[in-house]
Parts: sequence; structure tokens; C-alpha cells
Amino acid sequence: MAELEGLEFGKSDFVLLDEVIMEQFMENLKLRFEKGRIYTFIGEVVVSVNPYKNMDIYGTEAIEAYRGRELYENPPHLYAVADAAYKAMKRRAKDTCIVISGESGAGKTEASKYIMQYIAAITNPSQRAEVESVKNVLLKSTCVLEAFGNAKTNRNDNSSRFGKYMDINFNFNGEPTGGHINNYLLEKSRVIQQQGGERNFHSFYQVLRGGSNDLLGSLHLEKDPAIYSYTREGAASTTSSNDSSNHKAVLSALKVIGFTAKEIDSIYKILGTILHLGNLEFESDGESVQVVGAQLVNHIAELTRTDPDDVSKTLLYRTVATGGGEVIDKGHSEQEASYGKDAFAKALYERLFGWIVSRINTVIEVKGYNPVLHGKNTVIGVLDIYGFEIFDNNSFEQFCINYCNEKLQQLFIELILRQEQDEYQREGITWQHIEYFNNQIIVDLVEQPHKGIISILDEACLSVGKVTDIICLESMDTKLGQHPHYTSRKLCPTDKSMEFHRDFRIRHYAGDVTYSVEGFLDKNKDPLFQDFKRLMYNSEDPVLKEMWPEGKLRITEVTKRPLTAATLFKNSIIALVDKLACKEPYYVRCIKPNEMKSPVLFDDARCHHQVAYLGLLENVRVRRAGFAYRQPYARFLQRYKMTCEYTWPNHLMATDQEAVKAIIDHHGFQSDVAYGHTKLFVRTPRSLFTLEQERAAL
Ligand code: ATP
Ligand code: MG
Repeated sequence: MAELEGLEFGKSDFVLLDEVIMEQFMENLKLRFEKGRIYTFIGEVVVSVNPYKNMDIYGTEAIEAYRGRELYENPPHLYAVADAAYKAMKRRAKDTCIVISGESGAGKTEASKYIMQYIAAITNPSQRAEVESVKNVLLKSTCVLEAFGNAKTNRNDNSSRFGKYMDINFNFNGEPTGGHINNYLLEKSRVIQQQGGERNFHSFYQVLRGGSNDLLGSLHLEKDPAIYSYTREGAASTTSSNDSSNHKAVLSALKVIGFTAKEIDSIYKILGTILHLGNLEFESDGESVQVVGAQLVNHIAELTRTDPDDVSKTLLYRTVATGGGEVIDKGHSEQEASYGKDAFAKALYERLFGWIVSRINTVIEVKGYNPVLHGKNTVIGVLDIYGFEIFDNNSFEQFCINYCNEKLQQLFIELILRQEQDEYQREGITWQHIEYFNNQIIVDLVEQPHKGIISILDEACLSVGKVTDIICLESMDTKLGQHPHYTSRKLCPTDKSMEFHRDFRIRHYAGDVTYSVEGFLDKNKDPLFQDFKRLMYNSEDPVLKEMWPEGKLRITEVTKRPLTAATLFKNSIIALVDKLACKEPYYVRCIKPNEMKSPVLFDDARCHHQVAYLGLLENVRVRRAGFAYRQPYARFLQRYKMTCEYTWPNHLMATDQEAVKAIIDHHGFQSDVAYGHTKLFVRTPRSLFTLEQERAAL
């Protein structure tokens, strides 16, 4: 069993710092990192620093040490939080969630995998086949989603380019019975373009480097990613993992999950189609535009099971309904044709990814569940979502991602800071208020109806006539010029942090970010010529057809404008926050120690910044000033009444509160508790732990 650590490794809980100040916090964090102690508690929150090396702290033996134990019995670990979330769910039939946050490369996805492995390892001891199969699919889905949703970036060789929230369902026995995955905002612009030194999604390199000759032959592909325009940038860059063997692992995972041979075939055909689309070029003779290289069109038609003439026509023309109800074909300019095929490639990949997720969901959804027969079904949710991003060039994607982080910070404030303080007040516990920055004002700046940035963007996208990004920025300046968290180059011409007149800046809770408005309207409108949707809907490939249901509509029937990308994203994040808010939350706060992926470098300034914006110091203050544990009197009594002669089997006191007081006095825990109106508040875990042990020994 893992031993509790000695003091030479620093304080295992930041609550135990002599003084809650930044210097001490950072000193402790650094000392622990240098001593190979990458996890530290703040109460039930785990702070994790990416070790950038393999650690000998995972696996069967470690899992056994944490299994079913109380939080403070072992050194801090992800397993301890996973176990706490699991126990809370099982003991109290509570839905719980584990929210993993931190910036790109901080270790969120690795943490989520260790948590999943822990939950899989401690459940289903009797190895029931149907439960084993659910667990297997849940674990294998990670491999598939990483292949299609992750990419090498300059910050992380295996960066998740989508947000992921996974619910795991449990029956009353605490065995996994199924699950559900939600994905958020896949960075589809990566399909057609990557920054210098970055790669496209792993899936492309995997199939090119690992696909059998037969598969590549059938897709008309060659092995070298440098041949394809969409994968050329990343062709030379290496990653720590092997594309070829990963291809085989993905293929086998797809089979285990239950994708049919035909479905797998369709997936690779779509990847092939996208690579061929990337190599298409157009030329104009001054009158009309032509595709260069008929061969590629034939390949695309073959792989998508459509007619080559239809493919050609869709690439070169769009159908438009005239005012008089007439339908005509309008030829694209060279530029429009090129823009159209890129939009098509991005949409194909996005639909493919969404379809893979929903296909996994149909396999893992809980079947035949009846609450009357089977008891309460409970859930543990695991959230691994992109952290705050500040790049050299920040665009629409960073705007959405940072908005999402504002929402999650708001939830953190709501659940950990505000609710905590409100409860002390409500329960009449003496309490000194802790100051913290409430970022609701920034959330409003982005999402408020009619006045927020998203509304202004949508308005610009919907207006008839030519509205440019710059006109939209002017509208933001007019409406938001007075907002304390908004400014722009035009409003503040002397500000050196904004270089161009197209720049605007948001003062986020995590720092100032300058966005370039260029491309915002286009990315928000996210246009795709209807003709591509119809082409796909008319495919002979049932998988492809299924991905494009709206292609059924004829041009004259398309009336409603689809929701904009920002609004869709906003709605999905609001739904996510609602989902999380009704669960008991557990937090993993990940910190990236340096930019060099070094296992020995602790960059003080970078770490300081992360600790500050994650609000970790405030978290310690609230935790320390308060009481880590609380329980309604009746429940406490029910659980521990056997540990005291005055309360066992029944007490004769006037109220449950008095009976609880008798138990506390009996054990000498008076200084560790406070009595609220309805609940007992306990400061440290030690006293509860002793009670648990006594109870177990009886
Ligand atoms: P992104 O937001 O870009 O997806 P992330 O926070 O999910 O980033 P990870 O992919 O989990 O970051 O971690 C980045 C890399 O750091 C991993 O590929 C791995 O090399 C290393 N790493 C992270 N956590 C650990 C760990 N616990 N042990 C060993 N290495 C780790
Ligand atoms: Mg990740």
C-alpha cells in the first residue's frame, strides 16, 4: 500500500501551508514537482503538474492501494479523486462529475485516461461479460476519438482538438452499464490548413503510413503524406507515437466497438476523399472554370459512390433560386470553387467525426433499463475540454474556447466558492467572507442576448448586404466600447498590445487576449454550398448518406438559415454547464510546468500565471477558512450512531443535532466541527476517518 509521504516532499495538501500566500504555494508546488510528487490536494481538488516522463505510480498495485480508501489515507493521486467520486455515487446514490481543466499540454487527457482506467479496474469484480464489454468499449473509444480528434500542435504532440464530456452510467450495484459521449467544437479548420510545424489530425497520417497496400490501393492513395496538400505541412514532423502501429490499434478498436466492415470501409473512403479534394485545383480560361485533373474527380466519385459528372458539376456550379422561383446553375469563380471544396472537406471531416461519436453512443447507450426493476441509475461524468488559449494569432476558435473556459470558471465559482460561502451563511456558521473575482461580467460580455459579442456577430451574419469583419468590429466598438473588459485598437490607438486596426481585446479572467476579427464572420456563418449536401445525400453509400440528412431538401425548400457556429457552440456549452451543475463536482486542475516538454524544468513565471488564473489560492483560502465535509444530522447519525453508547441503537435526546453532539463529544472532536441549522460541518478529514474506521471494526 502507498505510504503517506514525509515532509521532505512538501505539504501534500495546500490547506496545510503555514500561510496562504502565493510564495508558499509556489514553493510547495515546485518542491513537490522536483521530488517527483506531481499531485497535491486542495481538500478534494487535485492539482496536477505534468511530469513529462513516465511515472511509476499507476497500475494494478497502486489502484489496489487507493481502492475504497478515504481521501487522506494515501498520498494525493488522481485515483483518490476517482475513488471519492465513485464512492459518493455509490454510497449516496449521487451523480458526480470530474472536471479536468488546464491549458494545452497540461495533462488533461492523460488524467482522464487514468481516471477511466481506475474506474474500469475497480468495478465488476465478478467479471460479468456484459459489464466487461461496456467497459471495453468505453476504453477503446478513447483510442478512436484520439485518432480522429487529436493532432500534433506546437504545444502538444497529442493535442485534443475537440472537447469531450463522457457520462458513465452505473446500476445500483455500482457496475458500469453504459455511457454517452458529447463532443464540442472540433477544430475543423485544421483539415485544410495547419500552422508551421503542426500536423493535420492523426487519422490521415495513420492511414497513409499504416494502411495496407490493398487499402491504400483501393483509396488511390500513396504512402507519403507530402504528396497531399492537406497533410504536406505535417509530413516531415515526427511525433512520439508511431502512426503505423496506431493505425492497426485504431482498426482493431473500431472492430471491438462494433463498427461493421462496411462502416470501417466508408470511414477510410471519406479520409481518402478529403485527401484527394485537397489536391484539386481549378483554372479559368476567362469564361468558365475547370477542374485540373479529371482523375481526381473520378477518384472522389468512386470513393463517395456518386456520379463523376455530378461531382464535377457540384465543384464548379451552385444552384440558386431566383426571385421569380426559377432555379438556375451559377458558375463559380476560381476562388469560389477553391473555397467551396475546402469548406466541403472540412464539413466531410466534421460530419465523419460526429457520426463516429454517435455510432459509439449507440453501442454504449444503456439498454433495457427500468428504474423500478433496476433501482436508481447513477452517473459519473468526466470532462476533458480545451483549456484557455492565448496564441500569437487568436481567431474565432480561441474566442469560443476561451468563452467556454469563462463558463467553466463560472461554474467553479458557483459550486466551490459561492455555494460554499452561501451555505455557511444559510446554516448560521460564523464565517469570514473571502474575496474572489467573479467573472460573470465577462460571460455576459460574450453571451448576453442582443448586447453580447455573439449576438453582434450573428446580427452581422444575418444582415443582407455586404457586412465585413471590420464593419462588425465597428458595431462591437459602438455597443461595447464602455465595457470594462472590452477594448479595440480603434478605441485605444496607443495600446501597443494590439497591432492592427482589426484587433479587439477581451480582458479574460485568465489574462488579456487580443483577437483578430478577420475571418470571424465567415467562420461564424460557416457556409457550405447546398449542392454538396445534396451530392452526399444522393450517394449510394448508406453511411455517407446518413451523415447528410438535410441534403434531402430541394433548393426551393431550404428556407431556414442554420444557426451560426458561435450560437451552436454557446447552446452546447450552456447545456454542458447545466449538466455539470446538477452533479457533485470533483476537480483536477492541471498545470504545465514549462514550454519545452522537459521533465526537470519548473518555469516559475509560467506556473505562477496558471496558479493565479485557475484561482487556486482562493480555493485554498475558502477551503481552509471553511469546513471540508458536511452532513445533514440525520444522515450522520444513521452512519455513526453505533460508535457511541448514547446513540446506539437509539438516542433519547430531543433532536438529532443533540445526538450528533453526543457522538462528537464522546470522541473528543469538538474543536474540529461546527453545528449548522441542519448540518454538521467538519473541518478536517481526520475525525471522519476515525469514525469510519470504528464503524468498520464493529
Ligand atoms: P490538450 O489541451 O492540447 O489536449 P492536454 O492537457 O490534454 O492538452 P495531454 O495530451 O494529456 O495534455 O498531455 C500532453 C503530454 O504530456 C502527453 O502526451 C504526455 O507525453 C505528457 N503527460 C501528461 N500527463 C502525464 C503523466 N501523468 N505521466 C506522464 N506523462 C504525461
Ligand atoms: Mg487533451
